[in-house]
Amino acid sequence: MVVGDPTALDALLTDVSKTYPNGETAVTGLTLGIRRGEFFSLLGPSGCGKSTTLRMLAGLERPTTGTVAIAGKDMTRVPPNQRPTNLIFQKLALFPHLTVAENIAFGPKIRRMSRAEVRTVVSDMLDLVELAGYADRKPAQLSGGQQQRVAIARALANQPTVLLLDEPLGALDLRLRVQMQRALKKIQHESGTTFVFVTHDQTEAFTISDRIALMSGGRLEQVGRPDELYNRPATEFAATFLGDTNIVRGEVSDSTLRSGGFTCRTAGPGTAMSLRPEAIAMRHQLTSPFDNHFSARVTDLTFQGASVRFHVAVVDAGPELVVQLPAKEAGGIAPGDRVEIGWQADAAVMLGSGK
Ligand code: ADP
Repeated sequence: MVVGDPTALDALLTDVSKTYPNGETAVTGLTLGIRRGEFFSLLGPSGCGKSTTLRMLAGLERPTTGTVAIAGKDMTRVPPNQRPTNLIFQKLALFPHLTVAENIAFGPKIRRMSRAEVRTVVSDMLDLVELAGYADRKPAQLSGGQQQRVAIARALANQPTVLLLDEPLGALDLRLRVQMQRALKKIQHESGTTFVFVTHDQTEAFTISDRIALMSGGRLEQVGRPDELYNRPATEFAATFLGDTNIVRGEVSDSTLRSGGFTCRTAGPGTAMSLRPEAIAMRHQLTSPFDNHFSARVTDLTFQGASVRFHVAVVDAGPELVVQLPAKEAGGIAPGDRVEIGWQADAAVMLGSGK
């Protein structure tokens, strides 16, 4: 199917804020563009304003200030049923007395498609979600994952410009959830429909998304591809929410960070550095040169299968750091050992520079 101009925006929130009648402000000053045909996730801890943002795209909540446009048209005051969007929740609203095919045909029939067209849409949608043999079953005769696929097929049968998904996999067990993540990504790719997906799960967002908007406290922290967010976090919140990291705060001048009596080389200015545990090399004796090279003592280790996590204390009142090594490099290092650790200056991301 046609994906169209990838730079075109299918959804645009401009300076949107939402304060509920009880005085609770859920979203503040949010400006966000979602491109045509992308799998876009709203990610952040519970209560950060993700669902409110999604509901404003759907038209179920009206912004207190700001505007919402879908496919280039102002929709700020347009009710949900007149928007080219469909919303899927964790609790599915399948009609229990209708078959799978009838559930999928429901929207197209209301939109007065001809019988032949409805048949084609239903058959295309069943193929898309890989349920071709299940047309005549009732929802109760399907597994949780299959019911999810029917809900997605039913929503896509309405040919929305944007499909909105509010934690749709939240109720599934982990194995099914992982399966459904792959299925959803495939369905999104094959349908070419823009998906906006809400999740609080960083791994899920990384697995599934083309781009992610990370939110906290009703505000946007950062937008980018998963690898951009992980490798170039813009804020301390982004660095710590998206995986493990060591944060060392201090004063930076002349590419040197000073934190109490500890100093290390940095690649730029800032007020803190974020150093991923896997970016630190560690051995009893390091043989290759590093911009930063310290003695440390191992205080603790946790075996994690493919890798091992160590807590180390940099000798002479340096910081406590977490170091992660592949299991095959970790053998022979035990709590109490004196080790050498090292990292290149550009392996750490500097935070708080000029923001
Ligand atoms: P998320 O989806 O990230 O968990 P929500 O958008 O659901 O966050 O909620 C953001 C904030 O707005 C929370 O503090 C929540 O309690 C509040 N909130 C959500 N819905 C309502 C409502 N209908 N009335 C009042 N406050 C609400």
